[in-house]
Amino acid sequence: MNLEGGVVGRYAPSPTGAMHLGNARTALLAWLHTRAQGGRHLLRFEDLDTGRVRPWAYDVTRMDLEWLGLDWDEEVIQSSRQARYEAAAARLDTYRCTCTRREVLAAVQDSAGAPHGAEPVYPGTCRAGSVSPARPAALRWRVPDTAVCVRDEWTGDTLCQDLTSEVGDVVLRRNDGVFAYHLAVVVDDAQAGVTDVVRGADLWPATPRQVALQRALGLPTPRYWHVPLMHDYRGERLAKRGGAPSVQALREAGTPAGQVLSSLAGSLGWAVPEQVNASDLLPFWRGQLGARHHKLR
Ligand code: GLU
Repeated sequence: MNLEGGVVGRYAPSPTGAMHLGNARTALLAWLHTRAQGGRHLLRFEDLDTGRVRPWAYDVTRMDLEWLGLDWDEEVIQSSRQARYEAAAARLDTYRCTCTRREVLAAVQDSAGAPHGAEPVYPGTCRAGSVSPARPAALRWRVPDTAVCVRDEWTGDTLCQDLTSEVGDVVLRRNDGVFAYHLAVVVDDAQAGVTDVVRGADLWPATPRQVALQRALGLPTPRYWHVPLMHDYRGERLAKRGGAPSVQALREAGTPAGQVLSSLAGSLGWAVPEQVNASDLLPFWRGQLGARHHKLR
């Protein structure tokens, strides 16, 4: 836990490919947020999904961050911390589940009250016992029958989700033994005493279930700042798989880092010179903090 009462922030990339400008902008904002408040900043590699990890991505990410001048005080690698996730899962009300994705989807489609959200809600088929004991089982958390509301500091919005009907029993460990991101993020943020989470807006809908996990484990809830994702000229979200230009390519092509930072700042509507240092942007973030709830699209 963070006993000094200062801000502890983090940037938590998944080493599944090269950082693109959208990742760099999130990394920049997370760094600015921590440093603007004189806090401690962590770099956490979220590499539990080993099938998607690219071994070279750790070093490339570190080099990209260093090149941009976004330093960190400590590094954490999730894949080395399995025992912590195991221990946390053991403290929760869980059951083994052998339903396949297809079975879950079929059950959802058959049920009268099928939700219209993008994400199918697990209907609890295995709650009373595994359907196919011979199959490898996932571990699911029996979510409390309650609603959880979370506030986002960037937009000022509050999101409430009913855990049973809108989220469903959360997978904590997949049937291939991989611990789920939702569990790991909650365990790691608490263990490091993270007070402020600055991350991409794509994770906002997952926040209530993470807060529910924090409550069930007796862990504190940090403040959340979900920052907008970057889009390309077609209006599509930048993605590692979508061929978005990588920071590594810009770096290796000899583009000045100051120019990349300047264009990231420009994309946030900040009026800055053509080349800047990361620390030149601190006053802009402080201004943003002052004008909280400013919606940026
Ligand atoms: N590893 C996640 C990602 O790269 C971020 C998780 C988080 O910041 O909570 O999208």
